Amino acid sequence: MERFDFIVIGGGMMGAPCARYLAEAGHSVALVAAPEPAPGGAGPFASHHDAARIARALASDPDWARLGARSMARYADIEARSGERIFRRSGGVLAGLRAGPLAGFTKRFLAVASGMDPAPAVAEGDAGGWTLPEGSVAACEPGGGWIDPRAMARAQVRLAEAAGAQVFPQAAIARAGRDVTLADGTRLSAGHVIVASGPHAASDGFLPRRPAMTVWARTVAFVEVDETEAERLADLSTLIWVPGETWTHDLYALPPVRYPDGRWRLKVGGQGASGPRIEDAADMAAWFHGPGDPEVGAALLAELRRALPGLREAATSTGPCAVVWTETGFPYVDAAGPGVTVLAGGNGAAAKCGDELGRLGMLRATGAELAGEGYRATFEARWA
Ligand SMILES: Cc1cc2nc3c(=O)[nH]c(=O)nc-3n(C[C@H](O)[C@H](O)[C@H](O)COP(=O)(O)OP(=O)(O)OC[C@H]3O[C@@H](n4cnc5c(N)ncnc54)[C@H](O)[C@@H]3O)c2cc1C
Repeated sequence: MERFDFIVIGGGMMGAPCARYLAEAGHSVALVAAPEPAPGGAGPFASHHDAARIARALASDPDWARLGARSMARYADIEARSGERIFRRSGGVLAGLRAGPLAGFTKRFLAVASGMDPAPAVAEGDAGGWTLPEGSVAACEPGGGWIDPRAMARAQVRLAEAAGAQVFPQAAIARAGRDVTLADGTRLSAGHVIVASGPHAASDGFLPRRPAMTVWARTVAFVEVDETEAERLADLSTLIWVPGETWTHDLYALPPVRYPDGRWRLKVGGQGASGPRIEDAADMAAWFHGPGDPEVGAALLAELRRALPGLREAATSTGPCAVVWTETGFPYVDAAGPGVTVLAGGNGAAAKCGDELGRLGMLRATGAELAGEGYRATFEARWA
């Protein structure tokens, strides 16, 4: 049995950077990073198997803003050292309504914006190339944009390997104490195991206790556009907005992004604390093998069309995804038992912040406290 200082289960947005930070600190590391399943495949599934995730420092909470800003400040270094192109600067707009049920969200992000250096420009009405509902106020962050999460994962894995980590591109199937068994029967042993298996962490049994987190089955909608339309919309920023007072949560939209099949697509999605939940592996497979919820997809597309009148569409589609919400509203970066750390619970926002969260995971797994890291949040886990 091969022995390491650390085994990290999951090479996604948080696990891959955690493995890199551990390896760069001189520890021996095994990163168990299952490959992306082919369409119809059995998993493991992930929240980052997509072409784009919004990246911005501005958030409605100062800790999330700090997680974003610290991670984004390192993108250039990660790109330069890995050779991967990860970040596209398109500008980022965060918009809300002055009145209505989500006015508090607007107040909070405006307060965070006013404390940023440089402070995002604040404007009433339309912004970033988008048509916003009446009563909107928008904060525009010129340094915002989006990342390619697959490229980010590749880059972090490459840098982890360069620092001496050993990567096992397959699924872990069992953990007993500090030993981990892989799908091909390989057995690994370590002084410490970090569970960063994303939406599976709530139910895969790698943690000694079930973390108190909800895995929401979410639908995303896409509008495919041709090359000419993609060029016309090339200066569009990313957008997070509240489409109207009837909505109980914000939505997000991205400018045209070229997908691995060569086609350009705009994406729209959103999160609310409702809808179908994923409780176990069977639910997960059933959800990821379907097209998402067509009704939700239609509502999302209607809002995208309102925000971008005149959009010339070639085709539309919907797809499934999963987001993990914790009880604290922050990722769990915490001891889960002797020799086990949990690093999971992205709350729909951990792609852009994965690098800093991976660093916090490294600190916690090596026995450090997170209290001196400049956050109000403790990143403590809660258990079901
Ligand atoms: C549709 C959608 C849109 C989003 N938009 C944004 C956005 O715009 N900006 C943003 O910042 N965030 C966004 N998010 C959230 C972000 O993607 C997640 O917060 C982030 O991916 C969580 O990181 P993670 O490391 O916890 O999990 P993941 O990124 O899901 O990674 C988990 C990893 O663990 C691996 N794994 C699981 N089980 C095993 C196993 N048994 N053995 C080995 N490996 C295993 C998986 O293969 C995967 O690589 C979005 C999420 C979704 C679904």
